[in-house]
This record gives sequence, C-alpha cells and structure tokens, in this order.
Amino acid sequence: MQQTAAIIGSGMAGLAAAIRLALQGYAVTVFEANSYPGGKVTELHAKGYRFDAGPSLFTLPQLVDELFELAGKDPRQYFQYKQLPVITKYFYPDGTIINAYKEPIDFAQEIQRQTGEPTESVLRFLAKSKELYDLTAHIFLFASLHQWSTYLNLKALKTSLKLHKLDAFRSVDRANRGWFKDARVVQLFNRYATYNGSDPYQAPATLNIIPHLEHNIGAYLAEGGMHSVTKALYQLAQEVGVKFEFDCAVDKIVVEGKRAASCEVMYKVQSTKYDGGKKVVLGGCDIIVSNMDVVNTYRKLLPDLKEPTRITHQPRSSSAMIFYWGVKRQFPKLDVHNILFTKDYPAEFKALFTEGTVYNDPTTYLYISSKENPTDAPEGCENWFVMVNAPNNTGQDWEALRQTTRKNILAKLKAKLGEDIEPLIETEDVLDPVLIEQRTSSYQGSLYGSSSNNMFAAFLRHANYSSQLGNLYFCGGSAHPGGGIPLCLLSGRIVADLVKRRHQP
Ligand SMILES: Cc1cc2nc3c(=O)[nH]c(=O)nc-3n(C[C@H](O)[C@H](O)[C@H](O)COP(=O)(O)OP(=O)(O)OC[C@H]3O[C@@H](n4cnc5c(N)ncnc54)[C@H](O)[C@@H]3O)c2cc1C
Repeated sequence: MQQTAAIIGSGMAGLAAAIRLALQGYAVTVFEANSYPGGKVTELHAKGYRFDAGPSLFTLPQLVDELFELAGKDPRQYFQYKQLPVITKYFYPDGTIINAYKEPIDFAQEIQRQTGEPTESVLRFLAKSKELYDLTAHIFLFASLHQWSTYLNLKALKTSLKLHKLDAFRSVDRANRGWFKDARVVQLFNRYATYNGSDPYQAPATLNIIPHLEHNIGAYLAEGGMHSVTKALYQLAQEVGVKFEFDCAVDKIVVEGKRAASCEVMYKVQSTKYDGGKKVVLGGCDIIVSNMDVVNTYRKLLPDLKEPTRITHQPRSSSAMIFYWGVKRQFPKLDVHNILFTKDYPAEFKALFTEGTVYNDPTTYLYISSKENPTDAPEGCENWFVMVNAPNNTGQDWEALRQTTRKNILAKLKAKLGEDIEPLIETEDVLDPVLIEQRTSSYQGSLYGSSSNNMFAAFLRHANYSSQLGNLYFCGGSAHPGGGIPLCLLSGRIVADLVKRRHQP
C-alpha cells in the first residue's frame, strides 16, 4: 500500500519536501493555513502595481532547478531568472556610491575607485569566502548536522583538520576590519550577516561565507518576480501528484506512543470546500513534516510533548519592517537593489539586538523590480519595496514604531534623492513582525528562525527530525540549516534524504 506523508505548511521548504517525497513514492498532502502557497514568498497587487511581498534576492537558483530535474522536467519551461549587471547599488551618508558589479573583478575595481581599498584585498576576501563555503557547506548546509554519517567521510575529515580556517572565534566585523582599511568597505561586507538575521558585531566570521553565494556564484532576479518561483514549484508539486488543502490550519499533531499518528486540522470559515471551522482528524500519516516554525510546532501542535528548550529558547533572528509604495515617478538614479546605509552601523545593531527597537537612521533597502519587469508598475511609475531591519516581536508598540520609521525613511530618501517622496506615493501597504507571525506562524516574526549570533548557533538549531517521535520531521527557516530560500530548499532535501534512509526499504 502507498505510504502517506502530511506536510504542515507550503513555504519553500514545505514545497521542496512535498515534491521530493512525492517523487519517492509517497501520497503527499500539504495542509496550508493560508489560501495560497509559498508562505513568505508571495506577492501583493494594488492599483496596477505588483510587489514581491517577501524575498527579493535569489541565490543558488540551481536548487530550484534541481527539483524540476529530479522530476525529469525542464525548469526553463516553468520559470526564468537572470543575472543583473549590478547586484546592488550602495549609497553612503558621505555621498559615496558603490555599484556591486556582478563580476568579482569589476566589483573589486569599483571598490578601489570609490574608496581606495585595493582591488586585491576584495579579491582575497572573496577567495576566503569561497574557501569557507568549500570547507563547510557539505557539513553545515547539505546534510543533517545531527547524524554521525555527516562527519564520517573524507570531506568532513579534511574540514576537521582545518577548523582554524573557519574563523569562528572572532566576529564578522572584527574579521572584516582585518581584511579592509576603509570603513565603508567593512560596512558593505558586514551587511551580509543580516542575510540570516544576525548581528555582524556578534556573529562569528564563519558567516563571511555569505558573500561567496552572491559574488562568486551569483545573485539573480526571477523574471516575473520571486513569486514566479512559488508558482513554478506549486505547479510542479501538483504535476507530481501532491495534494493541497488550503485555508486549512493544522491544530494538533496527534501522538500515539512514539509516533506522530495524525493531524487534527481546522478548516477556515471562509473555505468553500468544507463546512466553516470544521475540525477533521486525518488518521494514519506514515510521515509528518512540519514546515511550521519549530517553536510554534511544539507550543501549538504538540503541547503534551517535551519542548527542547535549549533550542526553542535560543535568541531569534531579526525581523523586518517593509513599506510597499506605488510611486508615480521613475528614479533613474536608483537600481533594482539599493542600499542606503546608516551613518552608525554599530548603533543600528545595538538598537535591534539590545534595545529591541528600529534604529532612527535605519539602513534602508530599496527594491524596485519594475526596473526589470516593467509590468510590475503602471507606465512612468515604480514599485518600491522599502525594507529596514526590525527586532523580533516582544510586545513593542508597533503602530508607533511604524509611524516613526516611515517618517525616518522618508527623511532619508529626501536627503539622498533631493526630493520629497511622500506626495508621490499613490498606494501603500506595510508588513511588520506581528503580521509576519500572523501570516506565516514564524515565532515572534523573526525572518530566519534563531539568530546566528554565536559560534554554536548552527548546532542549536532544531534538527530536521524529532528525537521523540520517529516519523516527525522539520523543515523551513527555523530548522537546520536555517532561513533564506536556498537553505529552506536544502532543509526539504535533507528531510527527504532522511526519510529515504530511515523509512524506505
Ligand atoms: C520581507 C522578507 C524578505 C526576505 N528576503 C529574502 C531574500 O531576499 N532572499 C532569501 O533567500 N530569503 C529572504 N527572506 C527569507 C525567506 O523568505 C524565508 O527564509 C523562506 O521563504 C521561509 O520559508 P519556509 O519554508 O520556512 O516557510 P514560510 O515562508 O515561513 O512558510 C510557512 C508556511 O507554513 C504555513 N503554516 C504554518 N503553520 C501552519 C499550520 N499549523 N497549519 C498549516 N499551515 C501552516 C504558513 O501559513 C506558511 O505558508 C525574506 C523574508 C521576508 C519576510
């Protein structure tokens, strides 16, 4: 008889796990609390504008392609992506502008032109970033950190002989101040710690692996926006037989002995398919995979199970506040991805991680997909996705923070662009940590699960399996290997590999 798998949540990791398990022969059903797939990778529409609601930067797209190839399909029939000539345009308070060109040599030369920092320093740094990736990815990204088999092979042995090269004993900032003399270049490379919601002044310099993904392997823009990745994976999942139940929140994982036996699900009132609010018990799941945040999985779905507090009490990664503005003008000075740096980066991280607030001169990320996808905005207009780092939600007054942050961002933009943006905003929406938790169940609205602000953080993320229930698995940003689209896709892969090894003949 065909084995069954229930997946709780259709985020990137849930979709990847669903596709892989279906290809491994399971009858897979995905239960999704929202009425749409993709979790954070979704989109908004208003008055002729389209906005990517969450991620905007696409690295390691080959991990998405891999899912299509596994199914014997051509990914290019489903979605397209391209490399931009400039990955990011950096604006500094002193007027310096750095274009991060896609070719490492062009980028390094631009840094030398704008700051005087020698080209060779940047190239040596990027080579170090690659070395970190080569030394660590097979242990920290591609496999379960919590299985002996990950360590018992030649590659792992080689890494163990070079542990000193992982640069885990100093912070990202400390390391970068060693690499570069110019404070603007240090700031530029410190920013990568935020790619997994961490603080460059605390997080270990092993995180300097991240620039390798963007500058050596490549940063991409999905045609039609990041949401096209969700659409493509959803289509593939359906084609390989995955069934989806939307508007359907799993309420409880029913435990029998040492097994996750079934899911209790609550269909939302607005669902047309089922009686409003009906609770249904779905019996007989052979495998259950939670793509819900691990903290909420324990607290909401498994209240009678012992919570692994050493893991669930880890500090959370940062969150974000995003303003989606339809702007009725075009700004040639801006690129697709823009960073407007703060004057005082240490103060910004102190505000985020110590004071639990949004800094008053926040580094502002401005993403304008309509520069490449003209249909994302009406003619002559631009779709601005304006994001600043925010702390995770511990009960702050978000309404007040929203108003202050909006004012601060508008002042910053006015100073940089020489123009008041506010009268040009013709449509507006907002996302904050509270809404992020409401919409995706991410505990405290953190974007990437627990933070990586200490050298043991990777080992203190939840494993991809339960140590208490033999058939329960975890994937997604709060489980190993962490947040961000590539890592979430990898968590789906690790889960499928574990299931194959542990359950299939
Ligand atoms: C504003 C923003 C910007 C970002 N920028 C980038 C970027 O540029 N590049 C990048 O790589 N990453 C970025 N990220 C991070 C990235 O989006 C996430 O790490 C990733 O998408 C998380 O995927 P996930 O699999 O953990 O699931 P999530 O996206 O968290 O989705 C989980 C899903 O599970 C569902 N669910 C939860 N509980 C239940 C339940 N009990 N029953 C049924 N369904 C349930 C939720 O409704 C949701 O759909 C960004 C995130 C945000 C919010």
